[in-house]
Amino acid sequence: MTRQFDKVAAKPGFRFFGNVDVGSHVTLDELRPYYDMICFTTGAETDRRMGIPGEDLVRSHAATEFVAWFNGHPEYRDRQFDLSVERVAVVGVGNVAVDVARILSRSAEELSTTDIADHALEALRQSRVKEVYMLGRRGPAQAAFTNPEVKELGELAGADIQVMEEEVELDPLSRAEVEQSDDRKLQKKLEILREFAAHSPAGKPRTLTIRFLVSPVELVGNEAGQVEGLRVVRNRLVADGSGRLRPEATDQSELLPVGLVFRSVGYHGVPLAGLPFDQERGVVPNERGRVLTPPGDAPMLGVYVSGWIKRGPTGVIGTNKKDAAETVGTMLEDLALGALRSPAHPQPETVESFVRQRQPAVVTYADWQRIDQLETARGEPQGRPRVKFTSTEEILAALNRDRQDR
Ligand code: NAP
Repeated sequence: MTRQFDKVAAKPGFRFFGNVDVGSHVTLDELRPYYDMICFTTGAETDRRMGIPGEDLVRSHAATEFVAWFNGHPEYRDRQFDLSVERVAVVGVGNVAVDVARILSRSAEELSTTDIADHALEALRQSRVKEVYMLGRRGPAQAAFTNPEVKELGELAGADIQVMEEEVELDPLSRAEVEQSDDRKLQKKLEILREFAAHSPAGKPRTLTIRFLVSPVELVGNEAGQVEGLRVVRNRLVADGSGRLRPEATDQSELLPVGLVFRSVGYHGVPLAGLPFDQERGVVPNERGRVLTPPGDAPMLGVYVSGWIKRGPTGVIGTNKKDAAETVGTMLEDLALGALRSPAHPQPETVESFVRQRQPAVVTYADWQRIDQLETARGEPQGRPRVKFTSTEEILAALNRDRQDR
């Protein structure tokens, strides 16, 4: 992947301006005189909320924050997660929930050979978490995670996987849906989950339980305003008008005695300065990547989007590749049609000096490669793929030292 990107970056027309924020350092309007086309691929930066009481209690977090924290995102390295509790709930059964549950369930030995951020490794070494619950509001046939990711949960050195037999049993509507489907991946997913249900615990120090057909309805707090329980209601599945199976609450509820809750119910895009935005869907309105301005949906000449900010936070890397190819196709169409404004200053040097004037601490592609080498070298003595720098200051200081040493 990186090698492929290196090849692209080596092309003469390629320039990389890292550490530049479009919106604060430069705006879209300011960039337009320098480029024929501008494409935004900013993803979906924030999380969706559950919209239930207690969601803002202490020890209730968005999974996105936890993921950014353990991956060493500079803006999240100072976040605190109370890992002194014994039980944790992760709401949602998508791949992000799997990532969070896996990190919480892995042993310190397993984590110490990964590229997890050092601050997270340290905190997780002290973790007292014993039980992790992943909660799906619908059934196993509707679980959003993909097979290789969920399968890995059954292979953890320090945690037993647990699924309740009665929850992996399909209800009649799901059974009919599965029988009519020729999706082999779905069959495989059910097989994996049935194996988990049939498997007896090996007495590992932690247990990771995947629950189905339960929806959180309230986070219960103690006097200090910290989470000490999660009330969930049992669901049954009903078909909506379009035939999609949706959860409907029954009158049975239970209180899970968890002290920490991560909501992992999807990401949401954030608006970009100067671009139209569909608040409901969290995307920039577009037609095959071509940005459209409401009302009337006139195309915004020369401005495009790709990835999650274009179509919402779904799909794996391959989905985003296809999506990028579609946007590039649209850009080429516009180029062929001559449907673009001519930029006033197309020379590469002019944009570079403009950006540097706004943000002198630009990180170039060569800098980025150097950071990669420095991080990898830091990891070597510890037998880890890399030890990440986790603040912008640290990155810039390392680059400065490196330049002086040369
Ligand atoms: P996701 O796949 O959309 O999963 C969201 C989960 O949250 C679903 O189980 C959904 O259930 C549930 N949910 C939504 N609202 C809920 C609510 N109010 N109460 C309870 N549950 C609720 O989202 P994601 O996990 O954030 O992942 C985003 C995308 O990134 C996905 O396409 C994922 O595959 C991808 N990703 C891939 C990898 C990888 O390839 N290793 C890693 C991370 C992420 P319903 O189905 O019932 O709505």
